[in-house]
Amino acid sequence: MNEGQGRAKKSLGQHFLVDRSAIARIANAIPEGTATLEIGPGRGAITEALLQRVGALTLIELDDALAAMWLERSESEPKLHLVHGDVMKELGPTVADKAPQWIAGNLPYNISGPLSAALFSLHLSGGMVLMYQREVADRIAADAGSKTYGGLSVLARHFYNVKRLLLLPPGAFNPPPKVHSAVLLLTPHGQQPACDFDALQRTVRQGFAHRRKTINNNFRGDMDAADWATVGIDPGTRPEQLDYPAWSRLATFLASRS
Ligand code: SAM
Repeated sequence: MNEGQGRAKKSLGQHFLVDRSAIARIANAIPEGTATLEIGPGRGAITEALLQRVGALTLIELDDALAAMWLERSESEPKLHLVHGDVMKELGPTVADKAPQWIAGNLPYNISGPLSAALFSLHLSGGMVLMYQREVADRIAADAGSKTYGGLSVLARHFYNVKRLLLLPPGAFNPPPKVHSAVLLLTPHGQQPACDFDALQRTVRQGFAHRRKTINNNFRGDMDAADWATVGIDPGTRPEQLDYPAWSRLATFLASRS
């Protein structure tokens, strides 16, 4: 570690990856020569491995000191480009500008929910390798019928297949977080989704608002018995029992009436 970079900032979710084999597995999940975006490079644990492997590499980093370090590095590293700012604001413009095939990131845990929803709306040709707190990764990777299945599990499946690549203990990081972490690999399933992502997002937000209520209760006033028959969903089902195709049918139906 470079002392000039100061202490890890809790407010920015800074837990730096130090496990060499995890770093190699994350970088090696991305094919050589591909245009890649890394979210939150931090001190460069994953970045250095990516630099050896990928084509153009764009970084989005919010921390001023770390961004200054990467800006300086980019001056002598032609394939490196830095975007200094908040990924929640910079993700869309950066993807539009740089057209990455892959996205990698050991994500700041404090924004992992909204950031994931933004990431899952992107239809990348390559895929994503994303590190989360284990509980969040489990929720995203969960299949319908599981207690942990929720809105993000549905949104991830709009464009991608989801697989857990790694499970890491707190000691894989410095400073160690309180919880275990997991890395997910998302690769495009290649099927054209039947519904629009924004419509799907609105639908799962409403549909999972009260997890313990039936789907009929969550859409009271929007859906009647005939509507449920049209979309082929039993209104007595609980939201966590509905698979991606069912959510997609419901989203398409609701969007067609709005
Ligand atoms: N990639 C490094 C690693 O694995 O060691 C650092 C990972 S650390 C968990 C998260 C990184 O995201 C930090 O570098 C932090 O400064 C950065 N970060 C936090 N919030 C951010 C935001 N809103 N936008 C961009 N970067 C952010």
